[in-house]
Amino acid sequence: MLLNEDKAFKLIELLNKSIKNPKTSLKYRNQFTLLVSVVLSAQCTDVNVNNVTKNIYKKYYTPKHFTELGINKIRNLIKSIGLFNNKAKNLYYLSKILLEKHQSRVPNNLEDLILLPGVGRKTANVVLNEVFNKPTIAVDTHVFRVANRTGLSNGKNPEQVENQLLKILPKKYIKKAHHLILLHGRYTCRARNPLCKKCVINKVCLYKGKNE
Ligand code: SF4
Repeated sequence: MLLNEDKAFKLIELLNKSIKNPKTSLKYRNQFTLLVSVVLSAQCTDVNVNNVTKNIYKKYYTPKHFTELGINKIRNLIKSIGLFNNKAKNLYYLSKILLEKHQSRVPNNLEDLILLPGVGRKTANVVLNEVFNKPTIAVDTHVFRVANRTGLSNGKNPEQVENQLLKILPKKYIKKAHHLILLHGRYTCRARNPLCKKCVINKVCLYKGKNE
């Protein structure tokens, strides 16, 4: 079962009222460092990423800096982060491509972003939304779960969920939707033991297993 447009509007409006300042908790100093932080945040908490990057970004914050560092030094700088071997390689090659093909700029479109190593659709959508102000919705595990539980979507994969959300949610909330739904999933509609009794969208949510 899917929510109709009126119910979807109600749902996102209730989340908007209850969640103050729906923003990324990643700390960054420019478009490039946001991209780096989002790549680092795969399977790692934003708090961990910020702890590591706060020292890195004091000295290294451009594609040229990361290219000059090389894979080994990047690996040493990020070694307390999960999957650091792959992430170090991705950050090095991504920086090299930005330097050589994009005049050191982060592309402002999905097609070019997803060609960068370590950058999938979700990462690209976070970057487009956060630093280019584009009305995109990044579907991570929280957004996927909440959208499918509530009836905002019944998509089988993140891209289907993204397209359904873009279609059903009112335009004025699209820009904020990722953070509103993600934060709701992180703190209330948790994977295990969702806090349905405290949930502000309980009456609208279609989840069969919800606790009323
Ligand atoms: S009622 Fe429960 S399942 Fe539905 S959105 Fe709220 S916490 Fe999630």
